[in-house]
Amino acid sequence: MFIDTHCHLDFDQFSADREKVIARAREENIKAIINVGTSLEGSRRSIQLAEKHALVYAAVGIHPHEAERFPAESWEKIERLVQEDKVVAVGETGLDYFRNYSSHTSQKELFRKQIKLAIEADLPLIVHSREADDETLGILREEGACRGVLHCFSSTREVAADCLQLGFYISIAGQVTYPAAKQLREVILRIPTNRLLIETDAPFLTPEQLRGGRNEPALIKYTAAELAQLYGLSLGDIARVTTLNAQQLFGIGKKQSGKIAYPIRDSLYLNITNRCTNNCVFCVRRITDFVCGHNLKLSHEPTQDEIIQSITNSASYKEVVFCGYGEPLIRLDEVLYVSRYLRERNIPVRIVTNGHGNLIHRRNIVPELAWMVSAISISLNAENKEKYLSICCPQSGEGTYEEVRKFILECKKYISRVEVTALDMDGVSITECERIARDELGVEFRERRYNHPGS
Ligand code: SF4
Repeated sequence: MFIDTHCHLDFDQFSADREKVIARAREENIKAIINVGTSLEGSRRSIQLAEKHALVYAAVGIHPHEAERFPAESWEKIERLVQEDKVVAVGETGLDYFRNYSSHTSQKELFRKQIKLAIEADLPLIVHSREADDETLGILREEGACRGVLHCFSSTREVAADCLQLGFYISIAGQVTYPAAKQLREVILRIPTNRLLIETDAPFLTPEQLRGGRNEPALIKYTAAELAQLYGLSLGDIARVTTLNAQQLFGIGKKQSGKIAYPIRDSLYLNITNRCTNNCVFCVRRITDFVCGHNLKLSHEPTQDEIIQSITNSASYKEVVFCGYGEPLIRLDEVLYVSRYLRERNIPVRIVTNGHGNLIHRRNIVPELAWMVSAISISLNAENKEKYLSICCPQSGEGTYEEVRKFILECKKYISRVEVTALDMDGVSITECERIARDELGVEFRERRYNHPGS
């Protein structure tokens, strides 16, 4: 399921076959299409399309190219249009200093008006910026805009960082598939997936595979496939996470309840508690209930039977992983019970843990895990105890780092595959963490990427 967050099906390029284009989008699992207005008439046409098709939502706005032609006396009409049902955003607005079809003064004036309108109407903004990033971001900041998307992103790492800082999402179109877009792909990789949207910008920016022809929502799969490859995720992961992001930004779709079992790539993860004995400064729980498009905020801690019932199609995954939004070994009995069930069915089990298991249970629990668990990933996260204390804020205080190291050594005795992980966040020496893991503890090491939950 994808959401095409930006296209222009009201344009003349679709006059001959608009209905077929929408039907093809439906066949290709497009869950929603946001048709973005670029003029007063275009905004009206967007609303008409949205009224006619359940799949389509509308954005109302005046494109910077149209700024000079837009009559000031028509502004009230735009204000009325944003009140219509199925209008989910204000835009396309912004600045375009590449084509310069309108004066900079008129573009800036209309941009500021549309930002104010979006804030008043409590709608997100869809922003276009070409050769004008500094001014675009400056105006967004001055006007206090904090909810929206920079569409068709093709700019620098600094602009992406500023955008994220403002609270904006970043939308990727078909250019990411172009061979010449190497630099863009490197920038995109720094964008956390929970701030990523996808779009076609149809009829423009047809993906490389069909370049030269007209673009349409059904072709969004090519952009999604490129992103999946870039992030090392599955196509399903990219679909789920970008769909959730779009739903959250534009307020469309049903709310998800907290999940026990959730797939990422070819693994099935189990979320059995939201409690943890750390309070890491980087913990994604501090900012969102979602990981890779899955809501992990549990309404209650699931029973052993509820956990087992949540595991479906287990044979299609390479492993089942206890992970989730808390420390799984807090619920040792449930981990043992469910692991036994999985091992009896020859399904490999891995545990992702903060390494506090022995501290929590005040005994050596590793031998109990030994025959049921084929792998364990333990977060070391720091090269010394002082840093561990400041980053992970463990409940058990000063001696925790040393206890985590002892737990790792204990796991090495009993579990066939032990890996230690650390996040590549500022202030952490990955080289030193790796040295400690490999040379001092004698186990594997894996660097995890900050801001990429599920990595
Ligand atoms: S150990 Fe994991 S779940 Fe616990 S606070 Fe740290 S990052 Fe969050």
